Amino acid sequence: FSVCNRKGKTPRRPPPKKPSNNQKDPVGVYCRARPLGEEDEECCIEVISNTTIQLHAPDGLKANRNGEFKETQYSFKKVFGIKTTQMELFEDVAKPLVEDLIHCKNGLLFTYGVTGSGKTYTMTGSPGQGGLLPRSLDMIFNSISPYQAKRYVFKPDDKNGMEVQNQVDALLDRQKRESQTSVPKTPTTRRFDPEFADMISPEEACKASGVDEDSSYSVFVSYIEIYNNYIYDLLEETPFDPIKPKPPQSKILREDQNHNMYVAGCTEVEVKSTEEAFEVFWRGQKKRRIANTQLNRESSRSHSVFIIKLAQAPLDADGDNVLQDKSQVNVSQLCLVDLAGSERTSRTRAEGSRLREAGNINQSLMTLRTCIEVLRENQMCGTNKMVPYRDSKVTHLFKNYFDGEGKVRMVVCVNPKADDYEETLLVMRFAEMTQEVEVARPVDRPICGFAAGRRQRNQAFKEELTRRLEDRGGPVDGDSPTISGPNDNVTLPRLIEALEKRHKVRQMMVEEYNKTGKIITLFRTQDSNLLSKENFIQEQRGRLGEKDKMIQNQKNEIDRLEKKSKMLEYKIDILQKTTNIYEEDKRSLQQELESREQRLQREMSEKRRMESRMQGIVTDAKLKWEKECERRVNAKQLEMQNKLWVKDEKLKQLKAIVTEGKTENQQPKRPSREKDKVPGEVFKTRGGGQAVQFTDIETLKQENPLAASRKRRSSETGPDGEPMEGNWTDVETRCSVALEMRAGSNLGPGYQHHGYPKRRKP
Ligand code: ADP
Ligand code: MG
Repeated sequence: FSVCNRKGKTPRRPPPKKPSNNQKDPVGVYCRARPLGEEDEECCIEVISNTTIQLHAPDGLKANRNGEFKETQYSFKKVFGIKTTQMELFEDVAKPLVEDLIHCKNGLLFTYGVTGSGKTYTMTGSPGQGGLLPRSLDMIFNSISPYQAKRYVFKPDDKNGMEVQNQVDALLDRQKRESQTSVPKTPTTRRFDPEFADMISPEEACKASGVDEDSSYSVFVSYIEIYNNYIYDLLEETPFDPIKPKPPQSKILREDQNHNMYVAGCTEVEVKSTEEAFEVFWRGQKKRRIANTQLNRESSRSHSVFIIKLAQAPLDADGDNVLQDKSQVNVSQLCLVDLAGSERTSRTRAEGSRLREAGNINQSLMTLRTCIEVLRENQMCGTNKMVPYRDSKVTHLFKNYFDGEGKVRMVVCVNPKADDYEETLLVMRFAEMTQEVEVARPVDRPICGFAAGRRQRNQAFKEELTRRLEDRGGPVDGDSPTISGPNDNVTLPRLIEALEKRHKVRQMMVEEYNKTGKIITLFRTQDSNLLSKENFIQEQRGRLGEKDKMIQNQKNEIDRLEKKSKMLEYKIDILQKTTNIYEEDKRSLQQELESREQRLQREMSEKRRMESRMQGIVTDAKLKWEKECERRVNAKQLEMQNKLWVKDEKLKQLKAIVTEGKTENQQPKRPSREKDKVPGEVFKTRGGGQAVQFTDIETLKQENPLAASRKRRSSETGPDGEPMEGNWTDVETRCSVALEMRAGSNLGPGYQHHGYPKRRKP
């Protein structure tokens, strides 16, 4: 079936149709709370306001989860409490959809909730408490019944389109259909099940406004059930075989040339009154019940879809017949869906195939949730993710509503009982999310070229014709004379007379008609002119409004930018000041740095100077000490040589003394060895001894320039402050002293005693 199929057949339209407007409306989500059942005690919901509902965890759950669950609030377009009547709900939820349907716009309405939450009660209702479906049907017929086309004037083709045929063909079709069915169908006189007859009380009847009287209407209904992801036609009339009952055949979904999904081969029953539509609906319900019992199905696991299709086409210029132009046929539809219970499988202890089926049902609701999620994400984040409509039959069927245009509404049903709390929580979350999805708003249908008021004019014309015919004695309805035979002398002349009169009247009327026709055409052209001008003005107004909005937006933007620029200027000012402060800081720091550098340089050069000075001192000292050491070594060497020589000399003298007695004549010889020669002269001392005059030492004195200073220094203090007495005594002196001592005594210990004082180390 088609969702957005506005035309019976529009092959010229490009296939991937996009809504021509870009206005969107969010999915309307309503919440209805049913009264607490008699057997239930604890209530876990509370209607806070007419848009907010609050859920609170039942006591048991609270205890189990350490009070982790608190109260949660959910807001919807409207929340209906337990006192809401079916009529009030209808007024808010379904009435606008029926209005739309009549004005060629599509709608989808579905109930969602846990089993037992009141989905079926809301959609179908009970005797005396008709739900949204019977009320919608009633409103449709209250609105269009005076303008309904004859049966079979509109004829569904097999490809989701709608044909239109003339009255004669329609009549032939009707006769054919009636002869086919064994029981003649006379719906207007048929007795309805009294249980359903009082679904809606007459005072509750309502009517759509602005119904186009110059169109002809026909209503078609289909009723399908989706169970275990199979589609079944509930209105299909299959000959019943009592011996071997055939299992119901499932249907498939197809896409029509406008890319709308429809159930291929699905029965579409044309209905002419609320009662007849009810009758068809209950027929389907009965079939559903039977199938469920026979096949041991659980009805809460099936989705039921009731589709109301409204075909409308303008009357021709005379306002007499439906215009025979398929392209002028508009088809809109309202889809009423009672979804399966949304609870998870675990709750109904299903097993085996039942469990599998339940899984499929769950799967389809799961797909619905996924589709809504993806749609929402695509719309909110501007992404272009693929919406998995095809994953289940239900969503595939709904595809056109979310992809195309139309109005989508959902009634979320909740049962306040504590047992349902957790499931209800999930339902609420899904419902809140659904509200964020937007669907393109349907555009107004194009106006047909004919002037308005055709039907009324035609009606008036017919009435006038009857009146005039009556005046002139013409045949009136129900007064048709009977001709007994070709020789009827009474009736035939009268008939001829009447026909002649009629002919004259007709000619007169044709003349009059032609006269008025001209005026009418004039009016019509003016009408259409006016209409186009009005359209133009409307369009311009719309544009003006848009421009106004744009200007306002831009003004706001300018205001915002001005504010921003002021703010920025202020910021710049502050930044400039800060920069100045920093620069000053920088300058002072740089100065300080420079002065420090200079100081550092000074210190460095000072250090270098000190270093070089120290180096000079060190080298001086080193040189001095080196020379000193050399000198001392030389002196010591000399001294030692002298000593050696003195000892040698003494030894010789001693030898001479010893040998004197033996060889008196023997003159003591000076040491013959050249090297033993004393660098001086030996002479006799007063004490009878000998002394040596060192000539070498004189030479040494002359050679060593330091000798004078050394002499001087000998009376001074040494490096350690002690007097260096005797240390630097002339060798000459020392030698003479020694010889004197030897002459005085016998070179005994006294010699040693008066020997040179021990030399101290410097
Ligand atoms: P569902 O279709 O969601 O499984 P039903 O519509 O079958 O639930 O409702 C279960 C029961 O609750 C029915 O007996 C129905 O009459 C009753 N019920 C549901 N909603 C209401 C309501 N708003 N007022 C009174 N009774 C209700
Ligand atoms: Mg139900």
